[in-house]
Amino acid sequence: MSRKSIVIIGAGIAGLAAGTYAQMNGYDSVIFEMHDKPGGLCTSWKRKGFTIDGCIHHLAGSGPNSEIHQIWRELGAADTQDFIFYDEIVQVEADGLALTVYSDIDRLEQHMKEIAPEDSETIEEYIAAARAFTSIDLLAFPLLSTWEIARKSLPVLPVMGKYGKLTLEKFAEKLRNPFLRKTFPTVQYDFSNIPMVVHLNFLAGSHNRTLGWPSGGSLAFARTIERRYLSLGGRIEYNSTVTKILVDRDKAAGVLLADRREHRADIVISAADGRSTIFDMLSGAYSDDRIEAYYKNPPDYSEMTLQVSYGVARDMGGEPHSLTYFLKNPVRLMDRQVDRLNVEIFNFDPTLAPPRKTVVKVMLGSKYSYWRELAKDRHRYEDEKARIAGTVIALLEERFPGISSQVEMTDVATSLTTERYTGNWQGLQPWMPSGVGLTAMTRGFTRTLPGLRNFHMAGHWAEALVGISTAAISGRKAVQRICKEDGKRFTAVAD
Ligand SMILES: Cc1cc2nc3c(=O)[nH]c(=O)nc-3n(C[C@H](O)[C@H](O)[C@H](O)COP(=O)(O)OP(=O)(O)OC[C@H]3O[C@@H](n4cnc5c(N)ncnc54)[C@H](O)[C@@H]3O)c2cc1C
Repeated sequence: MSRKSIVIIGAGIAGLAAGTYAQMNGYDSVIFEMHDKPGGLCTSWKRKGFTIDGCIHHLAGSGPNSEIHQIWRELGAADTQDFIFYDEIVQVEADGLALTVYSDIDRLEQHMKEIAPEDSETIEEYIAAARAFTSIDLLAFPLLSTWEIARKSLPVLPVMGKYGKLTLEKFAEKLRNPFLRKTFPTVQYDFSNIPMVVHLNFLAGSHNRTLGWPSGGSLAFARTIERRYLSLGGRIEYNSTVTKILVDRDKAAGVLLADRREHRADIVISAADGRSTIFDMLSGAYSDDRIEAYYKNPPDYSEMTLQVSYGVARDMGGEPHSLTYFLKNPVRLMDRQVDRLNVEIFNFDPTLAPPRKTVVKVMLGSKYSYWRELAKDRHRYEDEKARIAGTVIALLEERFPGISSQVEMTDVATSLTTERYTGNWQGLQPWMPSGVGLTAMTRGFTRTLPGLRNFHMAGHWAEALVGISTAAISGRKAVQRICKEDGKRFTAVAD
């Protein structure tokens, strides 16, 4: 019997993973990718000898203490020699003091108590909660059976009950020490309203050394999976944009490319942007109220949508790799007041810059409408990018005197940049659908579409949850479903 064929749209992590598992399970697969490289959002780019990493801060499953590590072994990306683990998550500076969020929970407890002995009881409660999370990895839940999830969740149920609805801001209100109360809400990437449960899982993952950094960064990581896929006989066609999913009597039957080529296949997996898959490539013919309601209301403002990077002729070896500091005076950036900066200092991976030089990046949230409006006039758009780069380097000067004279490279990427290069609608990542909560982890959001057979979605839009590991697991699950439909036993082998 001839092998069934699968066409996959997108060579992001989900598409690469789906392709790799498809090859392992005896399918003939081809990936069409609109860009000229793999990775999608998991990417980096070179400028004047510096590598700007556009994605990874922390990769789940970097170390063997998480079930996710096995996925990276299967995808050929888990040589533990190649993962770097941070000793601290972030350092937050304000009012002449510094809070270092150590990855080691015991060290963190001691440090916080030294800063705020009056908060010892609250700190102990926080640390105990983090310790409870060291026995599980929430991000690995999609890999587990319902029974395993229930069993593994037992030790954290009391913590979930207590912190389930609490954000970092709310927890900080319990702290009496003014410095801790001010800085604690910023410790998770300086995002607002981060649930405590997310932070505790993150802290535990850092302590367990399951959250790490793949040496070489995001694109190098994606390339390792690309290599694995190709070595199993998979094919990738780059610079190939899919415009339509071909459908025959409610069965997906292949794809149409922008250059009018048709490619027929038995099964289609879309690992591309959710909105364009459902409403452009399939013209909205396979949707329902739930899906329409979700895509009707995208958020305008989103975190991490503006990346301002510099390559500096400065050895920043002694600095924290992630630093949030409060400014002497708040400044206006885009359409809002900013009173602190979150800076990533890529001093931990020598492959990213020439010797004694460093890439420094500041990430800010921004509104898509702000950049869309400016982009109507190319000059205004470019001027605003240049103005922001000028303001940010002046603010970095406050903390790193002399840095502005050491800048050799400046790069500003907006949500429009992300949209252009990855197809993600409005440069966004999926937001959690209302009322779904953690069930999205096990059930996903649109892994299939109503009424359409031989079609699967994979990736962060299928799950409505962000994350590189989520994308990889989603690609794996798509192939597991296909095997089940074909009455085949799913197999996965480590590299
Ligand atoms: C700034 C930033 C930081 C992040 N940090 C982390 C982190 O530290 N850790 C973590 O785990 N996750 C992180 N993420 C999230 C993570 O990057 C994503 O959730 C994940 O990479 C999504 O992968 P994906 O394969 O589902 O989708 P994508 O990466 O969006 O891939 C989709 C692919 O499909 C292609 N495509 C789209 N349309 C078409 C078409 N019509 N035809 C052909 N090809 C098409 C695109 O070019 C792209 O290659 C971060 C994301 C961002 C933006």
